[in-house]
This record gives sequence, structure tokens and C-alpha cells, in this order.
Amino acid sequence: MTQCPPEDSLEPRIEAILAADAPPEGWKKALETLFERYLDQQRLLDRLTHIADRFQAAERERSQGYLANYEKKVRQLEKIVRISDQYQTMLHQLKERLEHASNYDSLTGLPNRRYMTMRLEEAASRATRKPDGGFAVMIADIDHFKEVNDNFGHAAGDQLLQAVARALELSLREYDLCARWGGEEFLFLFPACDATSAPVVAERLRQSVIGAQRIRDEIPAPTVSIGFTIHRPGEPVDTTLLRADQALYKAKDAGRNCAVGE
Ligand code: GH3
Ligand code: MG
Ligand code: MG
Repeated sequence: MTQCPPEDSLEPRIEAILAADAPPEGWKKALETLFERYLDQQRLLDRLTHIADRFQAAERERSQGYLANYEKKVRQLEKIVRISDQYQTMLHQLKERLEHASNYDSLTGLPNRRYMTMRLEEAASRATRKPDGGFAVMIADIDHFKEVNDNFGHAAGDQLLQAVARALELSLREYDLCARWGGEEFLFLFPACDATSAPVVAERLRQSVIGAQRIRDEIPAPTVSIGFTIHRPGEPVDTTLLRADQALYKAKDAGRNCAVGE
């Protein structure tokens, strides 16, 4: 029987066992040692696998943490964008409301003096450039309006102003413009309106006020006196307005509830 090499070197002993036709002496011990080493390696491998698994799990958790954090940041950003959109919309609406407030009268909803002045200036400069750009200007002033305030109160006066404004507005064509010029005065800009058609238009305005909706039976139906004129090409708007005002005074002097042209 062949001999196994000494115990300290396991590999030559296993090689010797494998090379021998019959198991050499000491084969059992060599196989036991080999098996122990195998078990040691197996345990080491298990520990390494365990460590690697834990490492991978930790990595996974970490990257999921990043993802969750990223998604949270995206949600925060989306919220900021939404707030910013709402803010923009609010600013836009505020700007529109301010623009409206600076151009319209809050009681009657009609364009105000500021807006009408701009439109009159535009019309005057267009009329200077274009021969057919003539326009008529009219002022309508409610007759004895103070009496309504005095006899029925300021609130009734306000309601009457609104009713007269509605009636005047309804009598206009698409391109005509009516503004609240001051207290109980309304100013009109009638494009393409000449000396022939102006008296007809003025009379239509006067009639529309007589037909205005009554706010109370005891309050007399309102009437207006109207002064009208035609803009003369090249003249400043103030000159046209002055002429319309003078015509209005004549209408008042003539007994009110009538239209006079200058
Ligand atoms: P006339 O026929 O000569 O035009 O007489 P009037 O009474 O209409 O004119 P007057 O100028 O004497 O009085 C106008 C009044 O309109 C005086 C003012 O207190 C009143 N008024 C002006 N603005 C408003 C308003 O917004 N609401 C009310 N209720 N009254 C107003
Ligand atoms: Mg007046
Ligand atoms: Mg008046």
C-alpha cells in the first residue's frame, strides 16, 4: 500500500489519493481535512453572499430614497409653477380691472371722460388726414336733475342717471360712442355724421330719453337738452367741444327738452 504525503500539505495528498489505484494510507484523514476546508469555504461564501445581499439592499434603499426625494422636489416645483400661474392670472385680471376702472364710469358703466377725450383726439387727427373722416359731437344734459336729487334723494338720482344712460346707449349704432362726461352730462361722438344727419341723430337721442324706463311713478320722466356740432377739419377738439357747449346753453335757454346745433 502506498503512503499519503505528510499531513501539512493537503493538495499533494489528495493528488496522491486520486493517482493511486487503491486508497493509500491516511486517505480518510486527508478527505476529512479536505471536507472541513470545503465546509469552511462554504461558510465563508455564505457570509460573503450575505454581506453582498445586504450591500445590494442598502443600495436599493438608497436609490429609492433618491427617487422619492426627486419626486418630492418635482411635486414642490409643480406647486410653485401652479402658484406662479395663479399669480400671473391674478395680476392680469387686476391689470384689466384697473384699465377698465380708469376708462369707465362705475355708476353707469359708460366710458368716462378720460376715454372719450382720447377717442375725440383720435377722431380729430383722423379727420385732418382723411377728407371723409368728419364727425359730430353732441352733449346731452338731463333737465332739472337737481330736483330729482332734492325731492327723491341722491339714490333716486343715481338710478335715474343709470336709466338715462341705458336709454341713450340703446339708441346708438355700432360705431357711435357715448360717455359720461360729468355729473348728469353725456357726450357723444358720431363718426361719419354731417350737418344734415346730426339734427336727426340728436332728435333720436332726445326721444330715447323720454322713453327711458321709469324708476318710480312719482318721479317725472326725464328729459334732456342737447347741443350738437360738426367737427371742422384741422380744429382742436376743445374748439368743437366749446361750440357743442354753447349749443347746449341755447337749448337750455330755449326751454329745455330740445336739441340745438351750432
Ligand atoms: P338744468 O336743467 O339747468 O340742467 O338743471 P339741473 O338741475 O339738471 O342742473 P344742475 O347743474 O343745477 O344740477 C346738477 C346736479 O346733478 C347737481 C349734482 O349734485 C347732481 N349730480 C352730479 N353728479 C351726480 C351723481 O353721480 N349722482 C347724483 N345723484 N347726482 C349727481
Ligand atoms: Mg349739467
Ligand atoms: Mg342738468
